[in-house]
Formats: sequence, structure tokens, C-alpha cells
Amino acid sequence: MGKINLLDKNVAELIAAGEVIERPASIVKELLENSIDAGATAVTVEIRRGGVSYIRVTDNGSGIFPEDIPTAFLRHATSKIRLSDDLDSIATLGFRGEALASIAAVSRLELVSKTRESPLGARIRLEGGEPLSLEEAGCPDGTTIVVTDLFYNVPARLKFLRKDVSEGNTVASLVERLALSHPEVSVKFISDRKTRLHSPGDGELLSAVHAVFGADFASALLPVDYGCDGISVTGYTSRPEQSRSNRSMQHFFVNHRYIHSKVCLAALEEGYKNAIMVGKYPFCVLNISLPYHEVDVNVHPAKTEVRFQDDRSVYNTIYFAVKSALSRDDILKKAAQTKPPDTVPNLLSSFRNEEAAQTVLSVERSADSSDPKPVYVSPVPAPPLILNDGNAEYRSSNPVSSETSASPPEMPSRSALQNPSVSDYSDRGIVFVPETVEEPQPKKAGAPVQVAAPELPKEEPSFSVRVIGELFQTYLLFEGQDVFFLLDKHAAHERIVFEKLKVSVTTAERQLLLKPVVVQASAEEREALFENESLLAEMGFVFEDFGNHTLLIREVPLILAEYDAADMILDIARKLIENRRDISSNTFENLLHSIACRSAIKAHDPTSIEELTELLRQVYANDEIRHCPHGRPVVVAMTRSELERKFGRIQ
Ligand code: ADP
Ligand code: MG
Repeated sequence: MGKINLLDKNVAELIAAGEVIERPASIVKELLENSIDAGATAVTVEIRRGGVSYIRVTDNGSGIFPEDIPTAFLRHATSKIRLSDDLDSIATLGFRGEALASIAAVSRLELVSKTRESPLGARIRLEGGEPLSLEEAGCPDGTTIVVTDLFYNVPARLKFLRKDVSEGNTVASLVERLALSHPEVSVKFISDRKTRLHSPGDGELLSAVHAVFGADFASALLPVDYGCDGISVTGYTSRPEQSRSNRSMQHFFVNHRYIHSKVCLAALEEGYKNAIMVGKYPFCVLNISLPYHEVDVNVHPAKTEVRFQDDRSVYNTIYFAVKSALSRDDILKKAAQTKPPDTVPNLLSSFRNEEAAQTVLSVERSADSSDPKPVYVSPVPAPPLILNDGNAEYRSSNPVSSETSASPPEMPSRSALQNPSVSDYSDRGIVFVPETVEEPQPKKAGAPVQVAAPELPKEEPSFSVRVIGELFQTYLLFEGQDVFFLLDKHAAHERIVFEKLKVSVTTAERQLLLKPVVVQASAEEREALFENESLLAEMGFVFEDFGNHTLLIREVPLILAEYDAADMILDIARKLIENRRDISSNTFENLLHSIACRSAIKAHDPTSIEELTELLRQVYANDEIRHCPHGRPVVVAMTRSELERKFGRIQ
């Protein structure tokens, strides 16, 4: 006798339901999405005992015609698509026609609904998917669904549910996401008879963010608004100094559908690279809008995963959107929009070089600072997105802090500080590298090009400050209009060297040492160095075995020509050993960080005011130099009113 049976309808239903309905939050998600698809402007979600015993969703949407009500509970019954072609352009949140069937299969359910057109509504009751009754009902326009006793007929599932509190929290975050992705809908959430959320539904994302996360969170956000290649990214992202210790607050929506996406995550964090402390993460609420046919939402029954037709464009657009938001918030850029400070007599000036103490820095910049919504002018293509087997795999850079300070190297010569430029650098282990984004064009060193505007840049804004002096031999103190700044000279210089190293790695500018340097190195150190010989040569270090436990260094990167080559190579060897010789892109960056840190001017190193002013000029000229390579800030600012508040001059 054969062993293969056809499953009966009930069992088949339960199996299918299991795919969509895992826990109370899955039900709330499906019901809320149905309400939004029905054009509701107000939705109330009420749960009791975390949703296990009771879930109610009431909306003021289109309602369902009485004759359609029983059909809505059949599997594959939907009003949202008809033909397979419709799958290519899904504009609704639902489309699979299985939510109501699945929910009904695993619970006791009651639905009351009325359309605007019909004088009367109808009520249906089901248990375990079987209709018990269908009758006329007087009710307001819209739909109410009450689900009780979830999984009463599937005890195995019941066992997998967590404590009520934790199921309730999952429902709460689900409702929050829906409120964020649809600011035009007023969402009310009641749990165990207490109102936990009530968003205004005024169409403003910031109002929704305010309602969901509170005022503190909302005030730490920067607006994002950027578009390229038919993709637009709008919303809010965090200021770099307001980061969090995990990724739980990174919210992405694609065409107003909440999604998980490694591509989006990677692009966001790449945008913050070297601007945020190690181990910290940005937070955001970003909506990515793109043509419906360019994204496949039919990847997973819960529809939280999507496939982009072109990962690279999405990645690039998010990256530039974030970069643009951060650069618009730049404190120095903002200061440049104000007029030069009055030339107040400087009490210290008689002790100083008059010219340096009263400096008006005039630095060439793109003229977008007066534009409230400047298009980001990128000096570099977006960094690579690393993909594995067709899946985007995110690798965070997480640079390891490397505060190795041996004998303080000298401040590099003026020439070494001049003409800062930024460029991309070759990365290790890249499988897929996005092409240069068309819109932003490369800029020449020190002379940014305004790409977005077809006309020539208007008058270049100059950055006018009065350099006051050096504080604690560590910070350069300078004054703008109603604001003063402290620049950390080590952090600034470190970042400048780091940016230059990146350039020197791409251009492989090397300096042949007139006198090759002999270094004593342990067997382990030599082994680590020789295993990575070609990579190090790419960075500009050329060396050979010199016998007797020694190496001979013949060439070093041009920019580092004046530093101690032996120290640098041993430092690199140590880094390679620490990283178990795995020369990933992170290790590669770590090496650059480490070299930059080692060769940068240190706090307490004597520095002339001219050198400090030159440092400041370079920092101003290059937006990248706002944080050291480990994410610590390079410049901090305090406004006159903040200071006056401290002195009690104003409230
Ligand atoms: P889908 O959302 O994938 O179409 P569902 O099983 O969730 O499938 O719903 C089936 C149908 O029932 C929907 O296509 C819609 O026509 C109708 N429906 C469900 N919920 C509502 C609601 N809250 N308001 C109006 N119509 C609804
Ligand atoms: Mg649905």
C-alpha cells in the first residue's frame, strides 16, 4: 500500500497559516496593513495579554461589501491583484490573499464591516477557519476585526509563544513601525487598557517620530532628502555624536513598507564611517522610494524582505543621502554662512604674530552652503558594497583604536600639509564595486566642483575666523560670528594624514629611500610581513629579507617619507599578527589608521600658530575631516548664547 496521503483541508490550512502567523505581532501586522490598504486615516489597535487572548483592530477605511465578506476568508482571495503581471508592480502592502484565511484558521475571529455605499454592514464569526454565522449589522463605516484565543487549536504553537509582556512588546514595536511608515494615518495603540501610542496622522514624518520615540530622540535627528537615478531617500538620520550601542533603531522603509535589508544597513553605516565612535551605531527612519517594478516584495510570506533589481543604485543613493545630511549639518560650514566677526582688539595679539592671530581664512568651497537643500557634491564614488553569493553581506569597518604613541614624530612640513585631497582607495576582498555615481564628479585636490548646478558657482563663501591661540597645547581656539571652536590638533592631523594615505594607496606614490633602513624583526614579524608583501607594496612599503633576523626597507609611501620607517613597519607587523594575518578590508584600514595616528602631531607637541592655522585651513577645506579615523570629533563648537547661559547672562 502506498504511503502518500493528500492532507485534509484543515491540516493544510494550519500548515499554510504557520508560515504567516507566528505570533500575535504577525496578526497585528497583517490587520494593520489591510487597514492601510483600505485607505484608513485612523486605526486603533487594542491587545490584551500581549495579544494572546485578545486583538482588536478598528479602522475607518473602505469597508468590505457584505457579499464579499465570506470570500475574504478564503485562501488566495484578494482584491489587490488579479494577474501575474500585477506582481511586478505592487503598490499595496498586502497582495497574497492569505492573511485573513491564516488568522481565522488559528483563532476565534469576528469581523464587522460596512462600506460607505451600503446602508447596513455585516458581521461574520469564524472558529478555526470555519464560518459560524454571517448576519447584518448596524455599524460605522470601516472595519473592526477581533481575534481571540490565538492558537487555541494548535497547542504546539502556543508553547512557542514567549511571556505576554514580551509578545506585547513585539506588537508595540510593530505598531510603532507602521505609524512611522505611514505618518498620514493616525495610529492608536492600547495594551491592557492603557494607551501606549497615539500618532497624529498629520502626514509629517517628524510628528510620527515624535509620537513614537519622544522629543529627545526627535531632536537628535538630521533631515535627509536626496534623490538620484529615480530613487529617492527621505526621512531622518542621527547626528554622529548621538549614536547608540546597537542597530535596533535603524528603520528602513521601501515605498512605505517596513523592511530588513543588508544593502540599506551597509549604505547607512558606510555613510557614517569614520564619523562615529567604534562600537556605536547611527539610528534613522528612512523611506526609500523607487519604481514598484524595481523592487520585489514577494520574497517572504511576511513580506519584510525585499529584493532590489539594482542593489548598487539603492546603496549609492542611501550612502549619498546620508553623507549629504551629515555634511549639511557641518558646524564649520554653518559658521561660514555668517559674516566675519568684528575685529575686536585682541588682548593677546601683542604677544603673537599679529597676522596669525587675526586671520580671515578664505577657503575655496562649493557655493552650496547657502542652499537650504544642497545636493551632495561628492569627491569620491560610494565605497564598495561587499556581496556574497548574490546576497549583500554587511561588514562593518569597526576600526580598532590604535593609540600607539612612541617617540612623538614631528609635525610634517608645510608642504606635507598642503593640498589635501580625498579619493577612494582600493579595498580588499571586494566582490562587487559600485561604479562611480554619475552625478557627483571627482573634484580636484582642494578645489571642489559644484556639480549639481549648471551655472558656475556664485561667490565662494569664505570662512572668517579669528585664531585666538592654543589651549593646553592640544586645542586650537578660534572664534567665528557668535560661536567659538576648539580644534583637536592631533585628531585633525591624524585624519588629514589618513585621507592622504588613502590617496597614496590608490596612486601608489612611493619614495625610494636614499639610504635603505635596516630593521631587526622577530621570525613571527617577518613571516607576517612577507605573507602580505604584495599588499604592503601596494600601500607603498617595499622591503626585502636582509638575513640575520633583519629586513631592509627600500621604499615607503611618499607621504610618510619623513617618518621613522622602521617603527612603521614593526607597527604594521604587530597589527598583522593581531589580526591573525587576515588582511581583510578592515585590517587594511586599521593599518592606515595606525600609521596615521603614529605619524600625526600629538597633543603637547610644540606647534606654531602658523602651522595650526594651516591645519585649520585644511580642516575647513575638506568636509571629511570632522572626525578622527576612530570617530572622535575633530572640532567642537559652542555658541555665544550657550556660553552666556552658563554665565547666567541669559536664561
Ligand atoms: P490581501 O491583503 O493579501 O489582499 P487578506 O487576506 O489580508 O489578503 O485580505 C483579503 C481581502 O479582504 C483584501 O484583499 C481586502 O479586499 C479585504 N480586506 C481585508 N481587510 C480589510 C479592511 N480592514 N478593510 C477593507 N477591506 C479589507
Ligand atoms: Mg492583507
